[in-house]
Amino acid sequence: MQFYSTNHNAPIASLTEAINNGFASDGGLYLPQNIVPLPRPFFRNIAEMPSGDLAYVVANTFLSEDFEPETVREIVNEALTFPLPVKRLDESGRVCVAELFHGPTMSVKDISARFMAALVRRITDGDDRPFHVIAATSGDAGSAVAEAFHKLDGVKVTILYPKGWLTPVQKLQLTSLGEDVTAIEVRGSFDDCQNLVKAAAMDENLKSKIRLIDGNSINIARFISQTFHFFNSFARMLEGGADPEQIVMAVPSGNLGNMAAGLMAKRLGLPVKRFIAATNDNDVFARFIAEGVVEYRPTLKTFANAMDTAYPTNLPRVNELRDDVDLSVTTVSDDRIIDGIKEMYARYGYICDPHGACGYVALDEQLKPEEYGVFMATASPQKCSEVVFDALGEKAQIISKKDNRRQVKAPVTAAPIYQSIKEIITSI
Ligand SMILES: *Cc1c(COP(=O)(O)O)cnc(C)c1O
Repeated sequence: MQFYSTNHNAPIASLTEAINNGFASDGGLYLPQNIVPLPRPFFRNIAEMPSGDLAYVVANTFLSEDFEPETVREIVNEALTFPLPVKRLDESGRVCVAELFHGPTMSVKDISARFMAALVRRITDGDDRPFHVIAATSGDAGSAVAEAFHKLDGVKVTILYPKGWLTPVQKLQLTSLGEDVTAIEVRGSFDDCQNLVKAAAMDENLKSKIRLIDGNSINIARFISQTFHFFNSFARMLEGGADPEQIVMAVPSGNLGNMAAGLMAKRLGLPVKRFIAATNDNDVFARFIAEGVVEYRPTLKTFANAMDTAYPTNLPRVNELRDDVDLSVTTVSDDRIIDGIKEMYARYGYICDPHGACGYVALDEQLKPEEYGVFMATASPQKCSEVVFDALGEKAQIISKKDNRRQVKAPVTAAPIYQSIKEIITSI
């Protein structure tokens, strides 16, 4: 498959080139050039298909020109080593939750980070430069990428995160792997971290010395696999008796990688009726949809910290793919996050994380009587136990136990200046 840049001013890239480049040379993001919807009979059978089989079919549409079917199967099996359950909250099955957090670092990022590692590992042939993966994180991407690439032969991982932003569990996940994983604590915001990664990923001088891969969701390798759980969620909704024409999906959104992948799933023929993007108080996307302009404001720190971004990097993809799709945005404040967590517990006895709670609040506000809604729980409540404990108090005792990892490698502290980051990358 070939990929074009959303800025329409860069050469068409092969899969390998698109993965290696991260951003296209014109600063745009890659998207598949020809998207052919999956055949109709496939959709008639999906309720009976397990998540691994669905992921295989979807992965094949992107990878079949570059890999043998058995290899695609291996990649999918290596990535999806955990379940993706969709649970009914109410009796009628009109309000469901897709739990996407059963991977090793307890967030949705495990799906795409593990897929990326499995895929990238198979396209290193012939390139003997030192291999480096770099990613910025506001909470979850870093640990998922680090865990996915940790101990893969000859790979080094560098993660940049903003000082003072991560929860204790998130920080421990980054600093407890050690060895090939270096965590850099940046005195700045997540968006500073993203800019530094982008500068590194576009630094030709640096890239002539090392094979540097951008592990963030702008990378096409992650984007491809973020479509899987939309197919799976849809299939599980059908299996639970939902009306196939009335399925609505609420997607907790920050950098809009997941949202863009949902729109890609729709292009592949998945008949989702409509999407609701749920953001926290960082509302650049809501303002973009309402007013048609992108106006950045300083990043706000919220309870749904993995969505704290003022520059949703996948916005160009969403913009390119949203034609004719019913897509609305709801901004969920910290107060409403807390109320959502409390309400879910009171109504359904369900303990939800603050990111998933954004999806729930947005869905609950908008769902029509004839519709079947599923919101995505993107992190385990255990990973965000501080916020969940604040909302539920005593009742949340059971989930407040901490991840028992210990810091083994102190993070390197750096100013948000590219030169200092480059020095660190070239010295490890
Ligand atoms: C990354 C993340 C999101 C947002 O996903 P995007 O693709 O960046 O919009 C939501 N919730 C959690 C827990 C995440 O880690």
